[in-house]
Amino acid sequence: MTWFRKKSAQLPMAFRRREVPDGVWMKCAGCGEILYRREVERRLWTCGRCGAHFRISAADYVAILADEGSFTPLFGEVQSVDPLEFSDARGRYADKLLEEQAGDPAREAVVTGRARIESQPLVLAVMDFHFLGGSMGSVVGERIARAGGLARRERIALVILSCSGGARMHEGILSLMQMAKTCAELGRLHEEGVPYISILADPTTGGVSASFAMLGDVILAEPNALIGFAGPRVIRETIREELPPGFQRAEFTQEHGFVDLIVPRGEMRATLGRLLRYFADSEGRRRHRLPAPPAPAPRA
Ligand SMILES: [Zn+2]
Repeated sequence: MTWFRKKSAQLPMAFRRREVPDGVWMKCAGCGEILYRREVERRLWTCGRCGAHFRISAADYVAILADEGSFTPLFGEVQSVDPLEFSDARGRYADKLLEEQAGDPAREAVVTGRARIESQPLVLAVMDFHFLGGSMGSVVGERIARAGGLARRERIALVILSCSGGARMHEGILSLMQMAKTCAELGRLHEEGVPYISILADPTTGGVSASFAMLGDVILAEPNALIGFAGPRVIRETIREELPPGFQRAEFTQEHGFVDLIVPRGEMRATLGRLLRYFADSEGRRRHRLPAPPAPAPRA
């Protein structure tokens, strides 16, 4: 969770700004193998030797998951401000935002829009870990809530790919509020029987795992993704016990009933296509069988 100050200077370079550094060759963070970058790209940014899934940008995920040319971004007009005029030892939040936006104020830790996957329409939201650790501030929460609202009104599936360190501490309580707001919107989606598929990528932690990420009708995860609330280091130091092997990894989380299916990146699109067709079919059957719901009685 990003409420804890990370000692970023101690992290290896590859984990700071970009997981996949530029260059012809790159070193796998999983097995240490030197890999040919083109080949890694061809494998959708996974290691051919150990299967490690490298962190990629929201744009890369959209390109991998959505039908070519089908993604139409929405809610880019919802842009971050600095309501608390926050600053800490690493500087002002307002400056950090400008730096991360790199000239495009619509850039944030989530992209949302309409898309098609294997010709099925959906509303897609993809988080971006490279933008302030994929942290959820007001804009992330608002865009996710609007995406949910759009899916509900149009009765098309919502798919959210989470990749986040948690709530954005720079926005204090306003960022925590997003947990309640996104869950409330997903509650309405659920009541109206509109499917929501959640994909957990590495990492899905903190306020994101404690809100919308774990509410999917179907919850998919990428292999070996870190999934949890507090990180293993914080838990170990709090309870003063060694944690079991594989703790909080996708496979461990699945064994304990929190994840339905682990899907390698190369199979994610086909899996989503299958699920979307299944939900669309059952929606069609339901519409065919049931009479229209009665109009709500006028309020006195
Ligand atoms: Zn590897």
